[in-house]
Amino acid sequence: MNIIITGGSGMVGKGMKKYYPNATYISSKEYDLTDQEDVRNMIRYHKPDVIIHLAARVGGILANIEQPSDYYDDNVLMNTILINESRKVGVERFVAVLSTCIYPDILLEGNYPMKEEVMHDGAPTPTNFSYGYAKRSMAVQIDACNKQYGTNYQYLIPCNLYGFGDKAGDNAHFIGALMEKVHNAKINGDDHIMLWGTGFPLRQFMLTDDFCQIIYKCVEENVYESMNVAIEENLTIRQMVKIALKAMDAEHLEIKFDSTKPDGQYRKDVSIEKLKKQFPDWSATTLEDGIKKTYHEQYKS
Ligand code: NAP
Repeated sequence: MNIIITGGSGMVGKGMKKYYPNATYISSKEYDLTDQEDVRNMIRYHKPDVIIHLAARVGGILANIEQPSDYYDDNVLMNTILINESRKVGVERFVAVLSTCIYPDILLEGNYPMKEEVMHDGAPTPTNFSYGYAKRSMAVQIDACNKQYGTNYQYLIPCNLYGFGDKAGDNAHFIGALMEKVHNAKINGDDHIMLWGTGFPLRQFMLTDDFCQIIYKCVEENVYESMNVAIEENLTIRQMVKIALKAMDAEHLEIKFDSTKPDGQYRKDVSIEKLKKQFPDWSATTLEDGIKKTYHEQYKS
């Protein structure tokens, strides 16, 4: 089975190497997936039976607010070209990765945790509006492609992720950035860390390796259902910070919040009913264990 994994240099891409060491991992250095000729050349050359499409223009709140047009264009172009070209040459299996950012910003209380069906019931949050819509469009494109052309393409919708190889600095995701801050505060002997927002929003954060396991299980166990992939724990940022401080032996650090900075979406917890039905024996790593593991892999080894 020839497998191409796009986004091979990203956090999830690196995580997939444990499961598919012999797959072809693509980064933007090899092929620019926003360029149709590049995508055609990639498919022609590697002749994939399976494409696991992880590549995306991904960034934090600030980058999304400042460059909404780039986030929209790059993601829509990449996804549209890749799915069309795969379908045209008969790529058998296509697994796309969306994000819970696709879901409506606010829904009535009874809709949480959100099931896959509520995806189109409202606009995504303003802080990553264009990224959210671009990713949501990929669900529309895949459903339409399956309907019209009889393909069996699939999309998975993961919650927020963290793990080894996460980005650092301004473009980092929350847990990766938090771990970096805590680690630096410990090294510098600081007595506090400063975080953006109020600390009240709720989030589901899943270990990247857990998500990679699910991708692998879908392909190997012939599961074609499109579904949310998340951890059941839905915690406030404040709760998560406490867990991280404990997991990183840094409970002495005071947590300060800069509430002049944006919080992002208040909540976007998703239902994992479908996931549990497909994989009843599978369970996610708890946030505390996941942070301990990541801390060890990233900073202590
Ligand atoms: P990441 O670390 O930002 O990696 C993005 C990957 O996409 C990189 O390999 C990058 O290649 C590639 N890429 C970007 N633009 C490209 C282009 N024009 N042509 C070819 N490749 C391009 O992302 P990640 O965290 O691994 O996320 C993987 C997937 O999961 C994404 O689809 C993301 O939306 C989704 N997701 C992530 C999270 C999360 O919390 N991380 C949560 C939900 C969903 P270069 O390194 O060469 O730039």
